[in-house]
Amino acid sequence: MTALLELKDIRRSYPSGDEQVEVLKGVSLSIYAGEMVAIVGASGSGKSTLMNILGCLDKPTSGSYHVAGTDVATLDGDALARLRREHFGFIFQRYHLLSHLSAAQNVEVPAIYAGVAPKVRHQRASELLTRLGLAERIDYSPAQLSGGQQQRVSIARALMNGGQVILADEPTGALDTHSGEEVMATLKQLRDRGHTIIIVTHDPSVAAQAERVIEIRDGEIIANPPPAPGVHDATPITDKPRHTSALQQFIGGFKEALMMAWLAMVANKMRTLLTMLGIIIGIASVVSIVVVGDAAKQLVLADIRSIGTNTIDVYPGKDFGDDDPQYQQALKYDDLTAIQKQPWVQSATPTVSQNLRLRYGNVDVAASANGVSGQYFNVYGMTFSEGSTFNESQLNGRAQVVILDSNSRRQLFKDKLSVVGEVVLVGNMPATVIGVAEEKQSMFGSSKVLRVWLPYTTMSGRIMGQSWLNSITVRVKDGYPSAEAEQQITRLLTLRHGKQDFFTWNMDGILKTAEKTTRTLQLFLTLVAVISLLVGGIGVMNIMLVSVTERTREIGIRMAVGARASDVLQQFLIEAVLVCLVGGALGISLSLLIAFTLKLFLPGWEIGFSPVALVTAFLCSTITGVVFGWLPARNAARLNPVDALARE
Ligand code: ADP
Ligand code: MG
Repeated sequence: MTALLELKDIRRSYPSGDEQVEVLKGVSLSIYAGEMVAIVGASGSGKSTLMNILGCLDKPTSGSYHVAGTDVATLDGDALARLRREHFGFIFQRYHLLSHLSAAQNVEVPAIYAGVAPKVRHQRASELLTRLGLAERIDYSPAQLSGGQQQRVSIARALMNGGQVILADEPTGALDTHSGEEVMATLKQLRDRGHTIIIVTHDPSVAAQAERVIEIRDGEIIANPPPAPGVHDATPITDKPRHTSALQQFIGGFKEALMMAWLAMVANKMRTLLTMLGIIIGIASVVSIVVVGDAAKQLVLADIRSIGTNTIDVYPGKDFGDDDPQYQQALKYDDLTAIQKQPWVQSATPTVSQNLRLRYGNVDVAASANGVSGQYFNVYGMTFSEGSTFNESQLNGRAQVVILDSNSRRQLFKDKLSVVGEVVLVGNMPATVIGVAEEKQSMFGSSKVLRVWLPYTTMSGRIMGQSWLNSITVRVKDGYPSAEAEQQITRLLTLRHGKQDFFTWNMDGILKTAEKTTRTLQLFLTLVAVISLLVGGIGVMNIMLVSVTERTREIGIRMAVGARASDVLQQFLIEAVLVCLVGGALGISLSLLIAFTLKLFLPGWEIGFSPVALVTAFLCSTITGVVFGWLPARNAARLNPVDALARE
């Protein structure tokens, strides 16, 4: 006949100082299916140590242990967890119920790890509790139950997945006589139903109720009677998990872990909130920097673009500051016409400028008069608050018309409602005001001189009497590369002049520099944000380590009823990720608030929440949770079940 549990020369020693203390000194023992065995011995004789080895919670230092013919030494951690989950049922002296779960939830824990569907396990839990006389106490928490009732809950838990072998370590030790008798009666009933019962006790009256009493003293078996008749052959343990698929197991475990994580978070509200604060600040800064930084960048770039990024200025001479008289007259009207004819040119406008007096009535001010073409205002993106620009015939006819800027308008006309049609003196030439142009507000500030614009033909022909231009501003068609355009202009004009007596300049360089600057700035700010997120993550790690230490006993209980190391790892990882995700969500809300406030104070800013920012935040939270939860979770998963259970 195959023994259900067979120990051969089992030794277990613990390190004590420099030496090893042997607690079990060569125990050999066979227990058969259907037996009710009591292991008795004085306190400290090694009963619990033996029991833990029998239940695969602990491993012997030497010797072999077979469960239904299978050598336990050949099983890995997960297989041992399955054995505990599906074949053994533990009953502890101190019940070892999870205090934050109800009676029914406690009973269900082994079934969760076995992947039993929620409906099935709810039903089985309430059936078991009803059978054990706890029908009315199903939703009570352990603290609301008496010792005897708690022990019955733990018996129900041991039976949840079948509990072929019930291992009870001093099950009556903490109970009064009456409750103890009840528990013993229940165990006897279970024996009658075919369970194998092993009870560890130091109480002879409890031991007397078993058919076979094995005595242990100082780690050695001193009495080992043969099994009573009526025992049967052990059925070999199956390799396949009895219950549902791995996926279902995973989902069940995941849900359980999520609920546990939530409970743990709620149980320590203040602590969780403080831990989260780091994540909240971290995520809020990451999102704000992405969002606000982007808006700021757009603002700067738009500002630069508004002055015309696809414009190229052509000046006479070799470079800025070159006033060599031989070059002064390099740019001619014909050059302008030639440039305007190029297919990639949207518009080209010349400037001929001079500082002149501007007079109206008794007001006399200094102003810069600029001869331009009608397209000038278009090139610089200026708008008209009154009137409009001059037309072709005014240009060709050297019309005596002038466009004022808003400052000159104010100087000359004060609060006059409409100024179009008024005649002012530009230098000594009377000119009719045909428009008031608004200079685009730019971050580079506007000049303090008054500015007026006249047709360049009027300016050069009537006022200055010169036949050359001070500069030509070319607006390139959208999409045409400005570097290419610059080359084209240079080639064209060099060909026309026979030498290069001009130079070109464009805003593209400035745009690139600004782009680079804002990018560098954003990168730097992101670094700061990432550092704050890092600090937040370290906070999470710290609190998770505390949490693992605090809940070591819980981990031990879960492992004893069949949780795999991976279940424990998963649970703590989920907890860390949950803290980070909730923190992340709060962080996003905070950054929304920041963005909203900024929008109120900075109306020009285009602050928009891109999906990129949200995905970044989500990823950052999850990654922080996983990275910083990993170490504590691994610590939890690596705990030895016996050590964890022994921890107070
Ligand atoms: P019993 O359950 O019979 O009272 P135990 O099996 O708990 O006895 O302990 C037997 C002996 O082993 C005791 O002397 C105890 O001090 C020692 N012991 C138990 N666990 C450990 C441990 N983790 N480390 C060191 N010694 C231990
Ligand atoms: Mg003990």
